[in-house]
Amino acid sequence: MAREVNTVLTIATLLPDLLGTYGDGGNGLVLAQRARQRGVHALLVPVELGQEIPEASIYLLGGGEDGPQRLACDLLSKSSFKQRVDNGATVVAVCAGLQILGHSFSVEGNDRYQGLGLVDVETTRGTSRSVGELCARVGDRTLVGFENHGGHTTLGPGISPFGQVLRGRGNDGAVDGYRTGRIWATYAHGPVLALNPWLADLVLESVLGYELEPMQSVADQLYAERCAALSPR
Ligand code: GLN
Repeated sequence: MAREVNTVLTIATLLPDLLGTYGDGGNGLVLAQRARQRGVHALLVPVELGQEIPEASIYLLGGGEDGPQRLACDLLSKSSFKQRVDNGATVVAVCAGLQILGHSFSVEGNDRYQGLGLVDVETTRGTSRSVGELCARVGDRTLVGFENHGGHTTLGPGISPFGQVLRGRGNDGAVDGYRTGRIWATYAHGPVLALNPWLADLVLESVLGYELEPMQSVADQLYAERCAALSPR
């Protein structure tokens, strides 16, 4: 039986026109749908260019090409986003989104741009682009996805990586993303929450404050098949 919850869970996908490569906007859909299937009222709000950032429990930032990434960072720095995160909102950030949250990031040509400074991380330009499968160990789970980025991210001393890289590069070939307070960040596209439904549920549980009943959707079955394909025979 789904548990009845009266509060509305607002999920805001930020600037999907700028930060939405590889269908990352789908992360919002996955969160909203998995919440609704457990009896939670979820409201999914895309926040387009020029719109005010509404109050939300979860903000989503996707990947983006260098130019749109810079513009998105500029717009977010002038918005209420930082304040809302400081006030306790949860953030799930992918690739360009992950880079923007840090102190600075470098894009083509090695020019360095100021990030939002919400997390003690820095992204410099790597020597080559990382394109391909990305798998990482996150606790007793395997995160699956793919990456396409030129950035190389260094975590500050107090920042924990999100996962240990099994395939691909992530931040630096050893670890992927970061997890700090209410911020979850990874280099994995997919959309990552569609490919890794367990992660969508972890994010929801962290916001709702209780454990969700397991689900057996097609996404959950596909995830199990992907993990089986990755295991050594
Ligand atoms: N523009 C950034 C980079 O190349 C992020 C790319 C992305 O979001 N896929 O590093």
